[in-house]
Amino acid sequence: MRPLVVLAARTLSPSARALSLACADGAPLAYAPGQWVNLHVAVDGEIDKRAYSIASAPDPEHLDRFEIAVTRVETGRVSQALHDLPVGASLAMDGPHGFFTREGVEREPALLVGTGTGVCPLRSMLQAELRGASGPRITLLFGARTQDEILYREELEQLARVQPRFSFQVTLSRPDDAWTGRRGYVQTHLSELIVPGERPHVYVCGLTDMVSDVRRVLKEQLGFDRKHIHSERYD
Ligand SMILES: Cc1cc2nc3c(=O)[nH]c(=O)nc-3n(C[C@H](O)[C@H](O)[C@H](O)COP(=O)(O)OP(=O)(O)OC[C@H]3O[C@@H](n4cnc5c(N)ncnc54)[C@H](O)[C@@H]3O)c2cc1C
Repeated sequence: MRPLVVLAARTLSPSARALSLACADGAPLAYAPGQWVNLHVAVDGEIDKRAYSIASAPDPEHLDRFEIAVTRVETGRVSQALHDLPVGASLAMDGPHGFFTREGVEREPALLVGTGTGVCPLRSMLQAELRGASGPRITLLFGARTQDEILYREELEQLARVQPRFSFQVTLSRPDDAWTGRRGYVQTHLSELIVPGERPHVYVCGLTDMVSDVRRVLKEQLGFDRKHIHSERYD
Protein backbone atom coordinates (compact mmCIF):
# COMPACT_ATOMS: atom_id res chain seq x y z
CA MET A 1 0.00 0.00 0.00
CA ARG A 2 1.27 3.49 -0.83
CA PRO A 3 0.23 6.84 0.67
CA LEU A 4 -1.16 9.47 -1.70
CA VAL A 5 -1.94 13.15 -1.46
CA VAL A 6 -4.51 15.15 -3.46
CA LEU A 7 -2.57 17.76 -5.46
CA ALA A 8 -5.46 19.34 -7.35
CA ALA A 9 -9.09 18.80 -8.22
CA ARG A 10 -11.36 20.08 -10.97
CA THR A 11 -14.94 19.66 -12.06
CA LEU A 12 -15.21 17.91 -15.42
CA SER A 13 -19.00 17.80 -15.70
CA PRO A 14 -22.06 17.98 -13.43
CA SER A 15 -21.33 14.40 -12.30
CA ALA A 16 -17.57 13.90 -12.72
CA ARG A 17 -14.63 15.26 -10.77
CA ALA A 18 -10.96 14.85 -11.67
CA LEU A 19 -8.34 14.43 -8.97
CA SER A 20 -4.63 14.87 -9.50
CA LEU A 21 -2.84 12.54 -7.08
CA ALA A 22 0.79 12.24 -6.03
CA CYS A 23 2.61 9.39 -4.30
CA ALA A 24 3.50 10.90 -0.93
CA ASP A 25 6.84 9.05 -0.89
CA GLY A 26 7.84 10.83 -4.13
CA ALA A 27 8.82 7.56 -5.84
CA PRO A 28 7.60 6.85 -9.39
CA LEU A 29 4.44 4.86 -10.00
CA ALA A 30 5.16 2.46 -12.86
CA TYR A 31 2.02 1.65 -14.85
CA ALA A 32 0.84 0.93 -18.35
CA PRO A 33 -1.85 3.20 -19.82
CA GLY A 34 -5.21 1.47 -19.27
CA GLN A 35 -4.39 0.13 -15.81
CA TRP A 36 -6.24 1.02 -12.61
CA VAL A 37 -5.47 1.45 -8.90
CA ASN A 38 -7.40 0.64 -5.77
CA LEU A 39 -7.95 3.75 -3.70
CA HIS A 40 -8.27 3.32 0.06
CA VAL A 41 -10.51 6.12 1.29
CA ALA A 42 -11.73 6.99 4.80
CA VAL A 43 -15.53 7.07 4.90
CA ASP A 44 -17.37 7.51 8.23
CA GLY A 45 -14.33 6.31 10.17
CA GLU A 46 -13.77 3.18 8.05
CA ILE A 47 -11.41 2.59 5.15
CA ASP A 48 -13.19 1.57 1.94
CA LYS A 49 -11.42 0.35 -1.20
CA ARG A 50 -12.58 1.01 -4.78
CA ALA A 51 -10.96 0.68 -8.20
CA TYR A 52 -10.28 3.76 -10.36
CA SER A 53 -8.70 3.80 -13.80
CA ILE A 54 -5.67 5.99 -14.24
CA ALA A 55 -6.80 8.76 -16.60
CA SER A 56 -3.39 10.14 -17.55
CA ALA A 57 -0.28 8.81 -19.27
CA PRO A 58 2.94 8.67 -17.26
CA ASP A 59 4.38 12.20 -17.15
CA PRO A 60 8.17 11.93 -17.60
CA GLU A 61 8.66 15.05 -15.46
CA HIS A 62 6.42 13.84 -12.62
CA LEU A 63 6.45 10.04 -12.57
CA ASP A 64 5.00 10.06 -9.04
CA ARG A 65 1.76 11.72 -10.22
CA PHE A 66 -1.38 10.58 -11.98
CA GLU A 67 -4.97 11.65 -12.54
CA ILE A 68 -8.27 9.90 -11.97
CA ALA A 69 -11.87 10.97 -12.68
CA VAL A 70 -14.79 9.91 -10.51
CA THR A 71 -18.48 9.74 -11.37
CA ARG A 72 -20.62 10.70 -8.42
CA VAL A 73 -22.89 7.70 -7.80
CA GLU A 74 -26.01 8.87 -5.94
CA THR A 75 -25.97 6.18 -3.26
CA GLY A 76 -22.23 5.53 -3.46
CA ARG A 77 -19.99 5.77 -0.41
CA VAL A 78 -16.55 6.21 -1.94
CA SER A 79 -17.47 8.22 -5.03
CA GLN A 80 -19.25 10.76 -2.81
CA ALA A 81 -16.26 10.92 -0.49
CA LEU A 82 -13.91 11.49 -3.44
CA HIS A 83 -16.13 14.32 -4.67
CA ASP A 84 -15.86 15.97 -1.25
CA LEU A 85 -12.14 15.33 -0.68
CA PRO A 86 -10.21 18.61 -0.36
CA VAL A 87 -6.87 19.39 -2.00
CA GLY A 88 -4.09 18.35 0.41
CA ALA A 89 -6.07 15.38 1.79
CA SER A 90 -4.30 12.06 2.34
CA LEU A 91 -5.42 8.64 1.10
CA ALA A 92 -3.70 5.43 0.00
CA MET A 93 -3.58 3.06 -2.94
CA ASP A 94 -2.54 -0.38 -4.06
CA GLY A 95 -1.69 -1.30 -7.61
CA PRO A 96 -1.45 -0.68 -10.47
CA HIS A 97 -3.60 -3.58 -11.67
CA GLY A 98 -5.23 -4.81 -14.84
CA PHE A 99 -4.66 -6.07 -18.37
CA PHE A 100 -6.73 -3.50 -20.27
CA THR A 101 -3.68 -2.13 -22.05
CA ARG A 102 -2.26 -1.75 -25.53
CA GLU A 103 0.78 -3.85 -24.65
CA GLY A 104 1.64 -6.16 -27.54
CA VAL A 105 -0.69 -4.50 -30.06
CA GLU A 106 0.58 -0.91 -29.96
CA ARG A 107 1.25 -0.92 -33.68
CA GLU A 108 -2.25 -2.01 -34.65
CA PRO A 109 -5.15 0.39 -35.24
CA ALA A 110 -7.53 0.91 -32.33
CA LEU A 111 -11.16 1.84 -31.84
CA LEU A 112 -11.63 3.08 -28.27
CA VAL A 113 -15.19 3.11 -26.95
CA GLY A 114 -16.07 4.69 -23.62
CA THR A 115 -19.07 6.14 -21.82
CA GLY A 116 -18.83 8.52 -18.87
CA THR A 117 -15.66 8.06 -16.84
CA GLY A 118 -15.09 4.91 -18.92
CA VAL A 119 -13.09 7.32 -21.07
CA CYS A 120 -10.38 7.53 -18.37
CA PRO A 121 -8.16 4.56 -19.32
CA LEU A 122 -8.70 5.45 -22.99
CA ARG A 123 -7.44 8.99 -22.35
CA SER A 124 -4.34 7.54 -20.72
CA MET A 125 -3.71 5.37 -23.80
CA LEU A 126 -4.30 8.31 -26.16
CA GLN A 127 -1.99 10.65 -24.30
CA ALA A 128 0.79 8.06 -24.43
CA GLU A 129 0.32 6.91 -28.01
CA LEU A 130 -0.27 10.26 -29.65
CA ARG A 131 3.00 11.70 -28.38
CA GLY A 132 4.63 10.17 -31.47
CA ALA A 133 3.89 11.55 -34.95
CA SER A 134 3.81 8.13 -36.57
CA GLY A 135 1.72 5.18 -35.49
CA PRO A 136 -1.58 3.46 -36.20
CA ARG A 137 -4.94 5.09 -36.71
CA ILE A 138 -6.89 5.58 -33.45
CA THR A 139 -10.55 6.49 -33.13
CA LEU A 140 -12.28 7.37 -29.85
CA LEU A 141 -16.05 6.96 -29.70
CA PHE A 142 -17.32 8.65 -26.56
CA GLY A 143 -20.89 8.26 -25.36
CA ALA A 144 -22.70 10.57 -22.94
CA ARG A 145 -26.24 11.68 -22.27
CA THR A 146 -25.84 15.41 -22.85
CA GLN A 147 -23.24 17.86 -24.13
CA ASP A 148 -22.19 18.98 -20.66
CA GLU A 149 -21.24 15.35 -19.88
CA ILE A 150 -18.63 15.14 -22.67
CA LEU A 151 -15.55 14.71 -20.51
CA TYR A 152 -12.23 16.24 -21.61
CA ARG A 153 -14.02 17.66 -24.67
CA GLU A 154 -11.72 20.61 -25.46
CA GLU A 155 -8.59 18.57 -24.92
CA LEU A 156 -9.75 15.71 -27.14
CA GLU A 157 -11.00 18.04 -29.88
CA GLN A 158 -7.64 19.82 -29.84
CA LEU A 159 -5.80 16.49 -30.04
CA ALA A 160 -7.87 15.52 -33.09
CA ARG A 161 -7.05 18.87 -34.75
CA VAL A 162 -3.29 18.45 -34.41
CA GLN A 163 -2.97 14.67 -34.80
CA PRO A 164 -4.30 13.45 -38.19
CA ARG A 165 -4.26 9.79 -37.18
CA PHE A 166 -6.65 10.46 -34.29
CA SER A 167 -10.40 10.85 -34.75
CA PHE A 168 -12.68 11.96 -31.88
CA GLN A 169 -16.33 10.99 -32.25
CA VAL A 170 -19.17 11.70 -29.83
CA THR A 171 -22.68 10.33 -29.59
CA LEU A 172 -25.33 11.68 -27.21
CA SER A 173 -28.24 9.61 -25.94
CA ARG A 174 -30.27 12.65 -24.75
CA PRO A 175 -29.12 15.56 -26.91
CA ASP A 176 -30.86 18.91 -27.03
CA ASP A 177 -32.25 20.23 -30.32
CA ALA A 178 -29.08 22.23 -31.03
CA TRP A 179 -26.88 19.10 -31.21
CA THR A 180 -26.01 18.23 -34.81
CA GLY A 181 -23.70 15.30 -34.10
CA ARG A 182 -24.31 11.58 -33.63
CA ARG A 183 -27.28 10.47 -31.54
CA GLY A 184 -28.09 7.29 -29.63
CA TYR A 185 -25.97 4.64 -27.96
CA VAL A 186 -22.34 3.88 -28.85
CA GLN A 187 -23.10 0.37 -30.11
CA THR A 188 -25.24 1.75 -32.96
CA HIS A 189 -22.27 3.65 -34.41
CA LEU A 190 -19.55 1.01 -34.40
CA SER A 191 -19.88 -0.11 -38.01
CA GLU A 192 -19.59 3.48 -39.33
CA LEU A 193 -16.28 3.93 -37.57
CA ILE A 194 -14.51 0.85 -38.84
CA VAL A 195 -12.46 1.55 -41.94
CA PRO A 196 -13.24 -1.08 -44.61
CA GLY A 197 -10.53 -3.72 -44.73
CA GLU A 198 -9.12 -2.72 -41.34
CA ARG A 199 -9.47 -4.88 -38.20
CA PRO A 200 -8.83 -2.57 -35.25
CA HIS A 201 -8.39 -3.70 -31.67
CA VAL A 202 -11.47 -2.44 -29.86
CA TYR A 203 -11.12 -1.22 -26.27
CA VAL A 204 -14.44 -0.74 -24.52
CA CYS A 205 -14.85 0.67 -21.02
CA GLY A 206 -17.83 1.67 -18.87
CA LEU A 207 -20.85 0.10 -17.23
CA THR A 208 -21.64 -3.57 -17.86
CA ASP A 209 -24.78 -3.10 -19.98
CA MET A 210 -22.95 -0.95 -22.51
CA VAL A 211 -19.86 -3.17 -22.56
CA SER A 212 -22.01 -6.26 -23.18
CA ASP A 213 -23.96 -4.52 -25.95
CA VAL A 214 -20.79 -3.39 -27.70
CA ARG A 215 -19.21 -6.85 -27.44
CA ARG A 216 -22.35 -8.46 -28.84
CA VAL A 217 -22.53 -6.13 -31.86
CA LEU A 218 -18.83 -6.58 -32.58
CA LYS A 219 -19.05 -10.37 -32.48
CA GLU A 220 -22.49 -11.08 -33.90
CA GLN A 221 -22.93 -8.28 -36.44
CA LEU A 222 -19.39 -7.29 -37.37
CA GLY A 223 -17.64 -10.67 -37.13
CA PHE A 224 -14.97 -9.67 -34.63
CA ASP A 225 -12.79 -12.27 -32.99
CA ARG A 226 -12.57 -12.15 -29.16
CA LYS A 227 -8.84 -11.51 -29.42
CA HIS A 228 -9.60 -8.11 -30.95
CA ILE A 229 -12.00 -7.06 -28.17
CA HIS A 230 -10.68 -5.77 -24.85
CA SER A 231 -13.05 -4.62 -22.14
CA GLU A 232 -13.17 -3.13 -18.65
CA ARG A 233 -16.38 -3.03 -16.62
CA TYR A 234 -16.97 -0.56 -13.81
CA ASP A 235 -19.97 -2.19 -12.06
C1 LIG B 1 -11.43 -1.82 -12.91
C2 LIG B 1 -12.38 -0.71 -12.46
C3 LIG B 1 -12.06 0.62 -12.75
C4 LIG B 1 -12.92 1.64 -12.37
N1 LIG B 1 -12.61 2.92 -12.70
C5 LIG B 1 -13.47 3.92 -12.39
C6 LIG B 1 -13.17 5.28 -12.78
O1 LIG B 1 -12.16 5.57 -13.40
N2 LIG B 1 -14.07 6.24 -12.43
C7 LIG B 1 -15.23 5.94 -11.73
O2 LIG B 1 -16.00 6.86 -11.44
N3 LIG B 1 -15.52 4.67 -11.35
C8 LIG B 1 -14.66 3.68 -11.65
N4 LIG B 1 -14.95 2.40 -11.23
C9 LIG B 1 -16.10 2.17 -10.33
C10 LIG B 1 -15.64 2.41 -8.88
O3 LIG B 1 -14.73 1.39 -8.49
C11 LIG B 1 -16.79 2.37 -7.88
O4 LIG B 1 -17.54 1.20 -8.07
C12 LIG B 1 -17.71 3.58 -8.03
O5 LIG B 1 -17.00 4.80 -7.78
C13 LIG B 1 -18.87 3.46 -7.03
O6 LIG B 1 -18.33 3.35 -5.75
P1 LIG B 1 -19.19 3.86 -4.49
O7 LIG B 1 -18.50 3.43 -3.24
O8 LIG B 1 -19.49 5.31 -4.64
O9 LIG B 1 -20.54 3.08 -4.69
P2 LIG B 1 -20.97 1.70 -4.00
O10 LIG B 1 -21.56 2.03 -2.69
O11 LIG B 1 -19.85 0.73 -4.03
O12 LIG B 1 -22.02 1.17 -5.08
C14 LIG B 1 -23.17 1.85 -5.48
C15 LIG B 1 -23.72 1.29 -6.80
O13 LIG B 1 -23.19 2.04 -7.90
C16 LIG B 1 -22.91 1.18 -9.02
N5 LIG B 1 -21.88 1.87 -9.83
C17 LIG B 1 -20.54 1.69 -9.84
N6 LIG B 1 -19.92 2.54 -10.70
C18 LIG B 1 -20.90 3.29 -11.24
C19 LIG B 1 -20.90 4.34 -12.19
N7 LIG B 1 -19.79 4.79 -12.77
N8 LIG B 1 -22.10 4.90 -12.53
C20 LIG B 1 -23.24 4.46 -11.97
N9 LIG B 1 -23.31 3.44 -11.06
C21 LIG B 1 -22.15 2.87 -10.70
C22 LIG B 1 -22.49 -0.11 -8.38
O14 LIG B 1 -22.72 -1.19 -9.26
C23 LIG B 1 -23.41 -0.17 -7.15
O15 LIG B 1 -24.63 -0.78 -7.51
C24 LIG B 1 -14.11 1.33 -11.64
C25 LIG B 1 -14.40 0.00 -11.32
C26 LIG B 1 -13.55 -1.00 -11.73
C27 LIG B 1 -13.91 -2.43 -11.39
